[in-house]
Amino acid sequence: MSRIVVLGGGESGVGSAVLAKVKGFDVFLSDMGKISETYAALLNEWDIPYEEGKHSEELILNADEVIKSPGIPATAAMVRKIEDKGINIISEIEFAGRYDSAKKICITGSNGKTTTTSLIYHLLQQAGLNVGLGGNIGKSYAYQVATEKFDIYVLELSSFQLDNVYDFKADIAIITNITPDHLDRYGHDMENYVKAKFRITRNMSSDDCFIFCSDDDITINHLNQIVVKAQKLPFTQKTEVEQGAFVKDDRMIVRYKEEECDMFLQELALGGRHNVYNSMAAAIAAKVMDIDNEAIRNGLSTFQAVEHRLEKVLSIGDVLYINDSKATNVDAAWYALECQTRPVVWIVGGTDKGNDYESLIPLAQEKVKAMICMGLDNKKFHDSFEAVVPQMHDVTSAEDAVKLAHKLAAAGDVVLLSPCCASFDLFKNYEDRGRQFKEAVRKL
Ligand code: ADP
Repeated sequence: MSRIVVLGGGESGVGSAVLAKVKGFDVFLSDMGKISETYAALLNEWDIPYEEGKHSEELILNADEVIKSPGIPATAAMVRKIEDKGINIISEIEFAGRYDSAKKICITGSNGKTTTTSLIYHLLQQAGLNVGLGGNIGKSYAYQVATEKFDIYVLELSSFQLDNVYDFKADIAIITNITPDHLDRYGHDMENYVKAKFRITRNMSSDDCFIFCSDDDITINHLNQIVVKAQKLPFTQKTEVEQGAFVKDDRMIVRYKEEECDMFLQELALGGRHNVYNSMAAAIAAKVMDIDNEAIRNGLSTFQAVEHRLEKVLSIGDVLYINDSKATNVDAAWYALECQTRPVVWIVGGTDKGNDYESLIPLAQEKVKAMICMGLDNKKFHDSFEAVVPQMHDVTSAEDAVKLAHKLAAAGDVVLLSPCCASFDLFKNYEDRGRQFKEAVRKL
């Protein structure tokens, strides 16, 4: 029996271990940190041996193949040792793909992955297809392959999840956009990060489709340098395209083969220019999947915003509170500001990932009446925005941020939490930050 060792005991690792068990491998899971109670219980339930708080070489280096969780960097000492021994390292996605004959729609990109993935899932599910949702969202892909039987999967894939794929093939691949993010994991080299994203197009043939944003220079430059055999279906807000999607006047138009589907932008459930992109990408995928126009229009107009993505929380005294805690980079915050039509009290701050705020300055000057910096180190925000924003304040909790925003905002304003930064200085994660913000708003 061949031996599979899984590194990492989170959603991805535990899902992989369960699938390996179901497929009859001798499985062992190892995590340097602590494994949560839920996952430990699941491992026990499936009778999978594991260790936590350490990596025991004698139990790992005898593997025939290792599945590495996406959270573990390639530079980790144990990963290096496994490589030195010549043991094959793959990702959960690669492993699960071997046992799955469903059609796979895979979405990656710097921003908009969750929104676009959820939109596509919503469109296909509403059309009555037997479809699963997974990857970076909800249950892991591997766990579902082990325990479910879907005809189609819609998979959100981060670049980390794509790092160790080799033979995996998507039937429809989408790159929403590429802007600098997570460069710390790619040797501060943008080219490496772009290449990781493009791994989503590996192994595709001319029967498959690649959907991408042709307004995105980084995507286009890379696409011009490589061969992608799949049919290319761009989406754009700048020009008309023969195949793909574009915006004309107040409508979005999708063209695929001989068919055309159009829809008024105003009817889209999700506001903002970025969501026009996401909706176009989703509509092309739906068209390729043969969903009829009425169902696409209906699905795109009824979709409920995903939590923490420009989520409207409450309106109090005609001040609208918006939770965009998932805006953990500059580009996401740019789109959040861009679609505001009312004066903004803007809550920013957190762990800086090497941000450059230059692109936000014109929008801040035009729309932001006050900034509240919620973080342990706010110096860079002050240096960048003091000259263009009339008032800037510092706080260290969501509650204080909301109380202060309430004081500063007048009727007709928006209070926008769109922080541009990761949340780890003051919060567990972006969800925790968003929930604390919402709780504080509800307490006002
Ligand atoms: P991801 O899963 O890639 O992080 P999300 O859909 O969760 O993407 O959105 C993350 C953040 O980026 C949110 O603040 C959201 O409003 C913003 N966003 C969503 N789609 C786009 C896009 N196409 N371009 C830029 N920003 C976007």
